[in-house]
Amino acid sequence: MSPASPMSETRHDWQVDEILELMGRPFNDLLFAAHTVHRAHFDPNAVQVSTLLSIKTGACPEDCGYCPQSAHHEVELERERLLPLEEVLEAARNARSHGASRFCMGAAWRNPTDRNLERVIEMVEGVKQLGLETCMTLGMLTDTQARRLKDAGLDYYNHNLDTSPEFYGQVITTRTYQDRLETLAHVREAGINVCSGGILGMGESRRDRARLLQQLANLPRHPESVPINNLVQVEGTPLAGTEALDPFEFVRTIATARILMPASYVRLSAGRTDMHDELQALCFFAGANSIFYGDKLLTTPNPGENHDRALFERLGIHPLEHSDEGASCETCGGVDIHAA
Ligand code: SF4
Repeated sequence: MSPASPMSETRHDWQVDEILELMGRPFNDLLFAAHTVHRAHFDPNAVQVSTLLSIKTGACPEDCGYCPQSAHHEVELERERLLPLEEVLEAARNARSHGASRFCMGAAWRNPTDRNLERVIEMVEGVKQLGLETCMTLGMLTDTQARRLKDAGLDYYNHNLDTSPEFYGQVITTRTYQDRLETLAHVREAGINVCSGGILGMGESRRDRARLLQQLANLPRHPESVPINNLVQVEGTPLAGTEALDPFEFVRTIATARILMPASYVRLSAGRTDMHDELQALCFFAGANSIFYGDKLLTTPNPGENHDRALFERLGIHPLEHSDEGASCETCGGVDIHAA
């Protein structure tokens, strides 16, 4: 494949060997190809900015090996019940005044009960009225629940695949890969934009990273938003102590995601606090064009807003007002959140 050939293609039939070939190219060749695709679909100096709020923290019945919110792990974490509506709206107003265009809300549930769903629907409606895009991550959804959220005006739903189907069982045992694919299908069928990605640095191989990207790129429609997280190692979680991923491997994965899903927003998500500014700049060049603002993700730290603002200024990057600016094809429209 020539460096220019992926530019015009939006494919859903990627073979893992093709993806491995891309990922394994000389670094400069891969970055050149990815940046060329990026420029063809987006303003290369614009980055979409979201803010994330944990609306219900901790005591999650799932056993995701990276997550401090799992009730299966011995992690010091202050648990919280579902936040009151007014508190959520106050946080959303604050996010808006700091330049966020999307407000993401995450709850540590296996799935929402119908009663809880009614409460989060009030949140979606209230945040929409503030003029912000809305995103939620609530665990697994039925088709009916997805439709209820769509009717309430939800713009995005985050549900990550996390890793390859082969490596998945070493990270999570309480829900299957197929469960995740089904939730993604319900969200898509309801007409909500899909946000789905994964976590790197969990001890997986390059092939696992390629297989994760293959799963995402070969969905019937590419997710509008693809968060790529770098594992934040939290003491007390099973994955604490995992050997850190080579940062260039992280950039290679971002670049490959950009080529495979040319019109999707590729989000630099959890793990940014451990990245130098230079590495983040390289990720933006490789095709990342979305971040979270704010000093905390769901439970793990994030660079402060002032730091991000200063970095944007140094790089001549400006925040996008709405995420459909700049996208120019198929997926027009556009967490870890769950990993954040
Ligand atoms: S990642 Fe989500 S589903 Fe998994 S334990 Fe954490 S909060 Fe629960």
